[in-house]
Amino acid sequence: MQFDLLTIFPDFFHGPLEYGVVARARQSGLLKVNLHQLRDFTHDLHRTTDDRPFGGGEGMVMKAEPIWECLQHVTGAAARVQRHLIQPAPARVILLSAQGPLFRQADAWRLAAYQQIVLICGRYEGVDERVAEHMADEELSIGSYVLSGGELAAAIVLDAVARLIPGVLGHEESCRNESFGGGAASSEPDEPPLPGILDCPHYTRPVEFQGWEVPEALRGGHHAVIRRWRLKEALRKTRRHRPDLLPEGMPAAWQSLLREIEREAGPPSEDESLP
Ligand code: SAM
Repeated sequence: MQFDLLTIFPDFFHGPLEYGVVARARQSGLLKVNLHQLRDFTHDLHRTTDDRPFGGGEGMVMKAEPIWECLQHVTGAAARVQRHLIQPAPARVILLSAQGPLFRQADAWRLAAYQQIVLICGRYEGVDERVAEHMADEELSIGSYVLSGGELAAAIVLDAVARLIPGVLGHEESCRNESFGGGAASSEPDEPPLPGILDCPHYTRPVEFQGWEVPEALRGGHHAVIRRWRLKEALRKTRRHRPDLLPEGMPAAWQSLLREIEREAGPPSEDESLP
């Protein structure tokens, strides 16, 4: 899989690309990342990539032309490569933007099916809207806050997608068993994937640290007990931190564990019952 990153700060990516899973994926050839300096696609002495906003106001806006030229370069080259493939998967061009729909794990799975992802990183007040309207296939936001540039957001999208490329993690099931993965703490090994709740808590040695013990259920080696504990604790965490992820029409086993969790939690405290 190939990523092409369009940016005025290509050096920004040296950290995110040089560690852990992403670095290994690049070394193994499963992931290729090309950095494109947008200034290389300008034609003036100052290599200008931004200009004043029409209508006046604060700050500068990233110009459409260098992005257009860079996209021609990047996707044109990909089209030539794809002609030699039996089933070419199209490139997906994405503009990182606080105004886009939220990037979720389901998007990471969706994007992992592409052969090439192009990520456009904005700066300043943002990017000339014609990029979103006519050049990008979609806009994506990594969260409901404003960053100073799209590079950090692009690195996050790249990381989340790269680890889903078959062969990158080495143990494919593990990403289905993570938070939002749809397999989190499934109650029986051969049951169909469950909706994406949060992952269960994890522990490692020592059994006791500072008086804090690893839960008994994980220590006995009884697989059914461990599976039940993991599902229950995944539900407990989801209920506490992300109740929005608990699906309508949950399996009966989930509902019964949630009732147990509610009984254990007792009635809501006065603070919790405040609007
Ligand atoms: N004026 C814009 C607004 O209020 O929506 C913010 C522009 S921001 C300072 C500059 C660039 O950072 C954006 O063009 C975008 O590429 C990136 N960016 C900022 N917040 C982002 C977010 N939550 N998700 C993805 N990209 C973001």
